[in-house]
Amino acid sequence: MPTRNITIIGSLNTDLITRTSRVPAAGETLITSSYDTGCGGKGANQAVACARLSREKGSEVKEAGCTINMIGAVGDDMFGRDLINGLVSNGIDVDGVRVKDGEKSGVAVIIVEEESGENRILMSPNANYALRPSDFKSLPDPLPDLIILQLEIPLITVLHILKLAREKNVEVLLNPAPAVKLPQEAYSAVNHLIVNETEASIITSTTGQNNSWALWGEHIQRLIDLGVRHVLVTLGAEGVIYLDTGIQRVLQAPGEKVTVIDSTGAGDTFVGAYAGMLAKSGRGSRDFTCMMELVDFANRAAAKTVQKGGVQSAIPWRNEVSLENT
Ligand code: ADP
Repeated sequence: MPTRNITIIGSLNTDLITRTSRVPAAGETLITSSYDTGCGGKGANQAVACARLSREKGSEVKEAGCTINMIGAVGDDMFGRDLINGLVSNGIDVDGVRVKDGEKSGVAVIIVEEESGENRILMSPNANYALRPSDFKSLPDPLPDLIILQLEIPLITVLHILKLAREKNVEVLLNPAPAVKLPQEAYSAVNHLIVNETEASIITSTTGQNNSWALWGEHIQRLIDLGVRHVLVTLGAEGVIYLDTGIQRVLQAPGEKVTVIDSTGAGDTFVGAYAGMLAKSGRGSRDFTCMMELVDFANRAAAKTVQKGGVQSAIPWRNEVSLENT
């Protein structure tokens, strides 16, 4: 099998994580039960998920069947160096990570509410927002087999990369988070769209949970009509729904029954697991059964993540996810 390349273009952030029994009310100060720092950013998290979920823990990078490249920006500071080292330790190529003079590295302040496992996040993009279209005169050479994008870098840069990808017919997975509505033509460059319920509501202008699944299906169909081939809506504990151009109904893979410790990063693990399997399967050789196996694997991998604290540290390796059906 040829070695495939996945290139992730996106954010790198240092996570500052506090755990509390409950979220403080306005004007209230609460003592946290713990504090930790970690490497994060949706781009970097998804790169780590791709790297770990395409090979077994302790195996050689060359055994993975795919190489993972990260493109992004950090500041010339200690956080930035740690972020780069974190990626390298997972076997990710970081030649595309630029160090931006005069910028600070991105930071995310994460509050985890212990009772529910829910999280709230405040993000300071810093160097991530210094990644401009001029940083991308062209796509990397040789062309990647799959490009993964999120929206934690400037939208203008994402739209520019989508345009380049469309021109070169490179397969693209977009995880539009944090969600904003994109210009309609942007969707025609997106082969795989992965959104959670909130993101789905925003980009389809629906009120989300108040709608029936049939109505969800109708709105998702609109994305497909714009040119997206595969649409996946992740539903937290409820699993994921999936639609592609070939089927006329919403299919649901139910969530795994697990005990939640911290749901931060579940969506990023889902994206990385799906992408790693996708790149290996090879474009053009995927039938519907193959796609459902990818969705099922990603669903099980993401359920592993919520059973551990932390973000990147909670992302499982391939051999830690049961491999039935894959
Ligand atoms: P995000 O992290 O982007 O908000 P979700 O909360 O929808 O995304 O979670 C992404 C995926 O992680 C889900 O589709 C599911 O596979 C898995 N997941 C999340 N929460 C749980 C849970 N409580 N139990 C089992 N699986 C979960």
